Amino acid sequence: MTATARLLIVGPQGSGKGTQGVRIAESYGIPVVSTGDIFRANIKEGTPLGQQVTAILDKGDLVPDELTSEIVRDRLSQPDAAQGFLLDGYPRNTAQVEHLESFLAERGEALDAVILLDVPREESLSRLSLRATEQGRSDDTPEAIGHRLDIYERETAPILEVYGAKGIVDRIDGVGSLDEITERIAKALAARGLRLAA
Ligand code: AMP
Repeated sequence: MTATARLLIVGPQGSGKGTQGVRIAESYGIPVVSTGDIFRANIKEGTPLGQQVTAILDKGDLVPDELTSEIVRDRLSQPDAAQGFLLDGYPRNTAQVEHLESFLAERGEALDAVILLDVPREESLSRLSLRATEQGRSDDTPEAIGHRLDIYERETAPILEVYGAKGIVDRIDGVGSLDEITERIAKALAARGLRLAA
């Protein structure tokens, strides 16, 4: 049986979703599609897209929905995403959910599971301050961090209601060791019948 898994990982900044997303995607043999990574790569390379979004990322604001959704469409249309993918950081509000849902529906596809990494705000904040020291990300300033967490609570958390109504959300306790958390996610996905790549 071929493994197909169309997954979304959601969690506040600092929840560890990037790290866990990579681990889960590897075990399923599917690509990670992270909009944050795509934007950062473009900024680093100084592309026109990078120049367009750099100030937005530095402030911790959201890049316009149309632009972000177009980038995701292009990425998901590449051959390596035909058998599945793990989305990280998109969709981030209900308008993006609608966009993604209609794009997938056109292809006769739908998300199989939404992994919600549950981490208290204080824990996210302390992990982000640590990352700021270690990685020096330009959007890990105290102002931008607080702003991004507010946006998460106001705009991103509501997308879970939409997916919750479809019965595809797995709420995972995001506090613990890296391995423990990966194990929790893998168990939840296995319970949905999502098989690992052979
Ligand atoms: P992340 O790495 O997911 O925390 O994303 C870093 C930044 O990229 C965010 O603070 C936004 O400025 C931008 N970004 C990433 N994903 C999206 C999205 N789906 N919609 C709008 N902006 C996004």
